[in-house]
Amino acid sequence: QSRSLSGIQATSDSLHLGNYIGALQQFVEQQDTHDAFFFIANMHAITVEQDPTELRDRTLRTAAQFLGAGLDPEKSTIFVQSHIPAHAQLSWVLECLTGLGEAQRMTQFKDKAGKNEHVSLGLLTYPALMAADILLYQADVVPVGEDQRQHLELTRNLAERFNHRYGQTFTVPEPGILKETAKIYDLQDPTAKMSKSAPSPAGRIDILDEPKVLAKKFKSAVTDNDTVIAYDPEGKPGVSNLLTIYSAFSGTPIPGVVAEFDGKMYGHLKVALADLAVESLRPVRERTQELLNDPAELARMLHIGADKAAAIAETTIREVYERVGFLSR
Ligand code: ATP
Ligand code: MG
Repeated sequence: QSRSLSGIQATSDSLHLGNYIGALQQFVEQQDTHDAFFFIANMHAITVEQDPTELRDRTLRTAAQFLGAGLDPEKSTIFVQSHIPAHAQLSWVLECLTGLGEAQRMTQFKDKAGKNEHVSLGLLTYPALMAADILLYQADVVPVGEDQRQHLELTRNLAERFNHRYGQTFTVPEPGILKETAKIYDLQDPTAKMSKSAPSPAGRIDILDEPKVLAKKFKSAVTDNDTVIAYDPEGKPGVSNLLTIYSAFSGTPIPGVVAEFDGKMYGHLKVALADLAVESLRPVRERTQELLNDPAELARMLHIGADKAAAIAETTIREVYERVGFLSR
């Protein structure tokens, strides 16, 4: 069975629609078709400053949302990145194979470095840690949003570089990026990706938002000056984003959604979308809240996941250390 692996950072109390539609929904589908590994990236989270209490809390909250969205610990291996020391160990080896210029060219680094006053080395080496996350488990496919395509390309290059220099060790992974939902945009600024780290939450739909808050955000979404509902990401990014989200929740391909709203007004689309999103996310929110009432059970589940992940990660790191010439103890 093909192995699928991906992670989400523990950088917010709630995941947003981009994480949900671009990544988490794919995770849930793949647990039935793949040997699936999904983790909470708390090590990536500290590439920008985090409050320790908040980070711990958000790690559990992210785990609860994984399960709330339908991940099943019986089917998938669900774990916390920092529970597996081999991520940091392999990351170091891969950093030493990465060019400085190569890392500096990553658009996520340039974006985040531009937005943060203090730029850590970790922000620069983020993609080497991400490559380690993936290569440790010999993943075949990595379901992510479009924003991670460049990092995945680097991961593939690093896998090939290592294999070439030290002998066949790593599987070279394929990106699992769905064309239509790969990038969900901010509702207030439909040229920017919806992001946990966006300065204002107004354009971000959090999957744990109260129904009223959610409806309000959809209703105040930025559209454009004419009034025709059409799918045109270049010319009409706001409406097109709403159509994409509607399509993702309803399962109707975009042309079908456009036909459904033909001749109707923007307001009509926004109300229908708000209703659909509220109903679709209600069970996710309710299950997540229930799970959060029992943090000990969540921790137990993560412990089991860590044991399963560690078995594979340790085998890989042992082989890597051997190949690079580290003396065995
Ligand atoms: P941050 O702003 O802190 O980087 P983020 O919103 O980008 O947070 P991540 O944890 O970095 O969230 O990403 C988790 C997953 O969600 C990745 O697979 C990423 O590609 C995907 N993702 C993030 N934002 C979007 C989006 N707007 N549309 C589709 N997928 C997204
Ligand atoms: Mg991100």
